[in-house]
Amino acid sequence: MSLIVQKFGGTSVKDLDSIRYVAKKVMMARKQGHDLVVVVSAMGHETDRLEKLATNLCAHPHPREMDVLLSTGEQVSIALLSMALVDIGCPAKSYMGFQVPIQTDSQFNKARIVAIDEENIRRDLKAGFVVVVAGFQGVDENGDITTLGRGGSDTTAVALAARLEADECQIYTDVDGVYTTDPRTVPDARRMSCVTFEEMLELSSLGANVLQIRAVEFAGKYNVPLRVLSTFVEGPGTLITYEDNNMEHAVVSGIAFSRDEAKLIVRGVPDVPGVAAKILMPISDANIEVDMIIQNLGDDGTTDFTFTVHRRDYDQALKILKAVAKEMKAKSVVGDTKIAKVSLVGVGMRSHAGIASTMFKILGQEGINIQLISTSEIKVSVVMDEKYLELGVRALHDAFELHKAPVQEEYPSRIRA
Ligand code: ASP
Ligand code: MG
Repeated sequence: MSLIVQKFGGTSVKDLDSIRYVAKKVMMARKQGHDLVVVVSAMGHETDRLEKLATNLCAHPHPREMDVLLSTGEQVSIALLSMALVDIGCPAKSYMGFQVPIQTDSQFNKARIVAIDEENIRRDLKAGFVVVVAGFQGVDENGDITTLGRGGSDTTAVALAARLEADECQIYTDVDGVYTTDPRTVPDARRMSCVTFEEMLELSSLGANVLQIRAVEFAGKYNVPLRVLSTFVEGPGTLITYEDNNMEHAVVSGIAFSRDEAKLIVRGVPDVPGVAAKILMPISDANIEVDMIIQNLGDDGTTDFTFTVHRRDYDQALKILKAVAKEMKAKSVVGDTKIAKVSLVGVGMRSHAGIASTMFKILGQEGINIQLISTSEIKVSVVMDEKYLELGVRALHDAFELHKAPVQEEYPSRIRA
């Protein structure tokens, strides 16, 4: 017998039929003998609707009241799911965040969980109830209702699983797992049966719509096996877990890519100590996050300094840089927003040399020019012209044979019937 935390997102509880379906699914797991804690999001797009109500009413809704409002979405879904469970003969009991209680700090709209009291849940599980908990919310030390930021129900589920030392945290959603790359770009992308926490964080752009990345970090920190599965299509989903040294790993697990970046180059920067800081300090002071950084030495005692930022920050970064460049007598500032970043990710890279050069060769054969490169232990990223993105990703997916499952891929599950 295992303790499982299951989380159902908004699309899984969007209407009464879906709620009935979820109730049946929960009841089936219960019948297999598992103890179950179920976390639910608000129905469908309810949170969007509530947010709009507030912002239509006033330009800057009071943060405390915003959380009182947003938390009502999950109050509705926990009550309905619990009723549906009871109705089919499965004892169930709903909990708002403050009733558990899930204790958070006082940052309204983006609170962090600081403690969870497990007593009530343990007692109800022991008494045979399925415990249904509202996702995305908690209570601060003043007794005020808080919410955890959009998509926060994933974090609620993982935090509960960590506190209760659950055997698995299952995130039910409208896709059946995490894929080797975006199937809309590469039709033969394959569902991975497992991926490590580290890889998942690097592949976050692939999972971004599936899982809140904060939840993955949290699960990694507390070693909670996390499984992404589809609510409506049966299947094993994707297990996100720790690397198991006894397993054979595919060298490359997946390919992440994004068009969200922009490139900035400061040309002819005097090559003296402190210039990198002088360029980047005002950027970070403006709260702009920098991704790749590259510096090239010219032969005239100056350097070219290149870095990338999120595309939405491009205009602001360009403006800041122009002022900085003038002050430090750099030659010019140029930029490009039509770039894309492609990353190969895999823990197997640690023990396999030459992945980067193979990647560059494949892109070269396709006639794709690489503008920037950065590497880490389990990742190689390149920046290219945005118009070659699809071509590049397809060529790499093909060449590294990601459509084929690795020989030994299943990870042992902690769940026991
Ligand atoms: N209902 C909240 C949202 O839409 C929390 C969640 O779904 O995870 O962001
Ligand atoms: Mg969600």
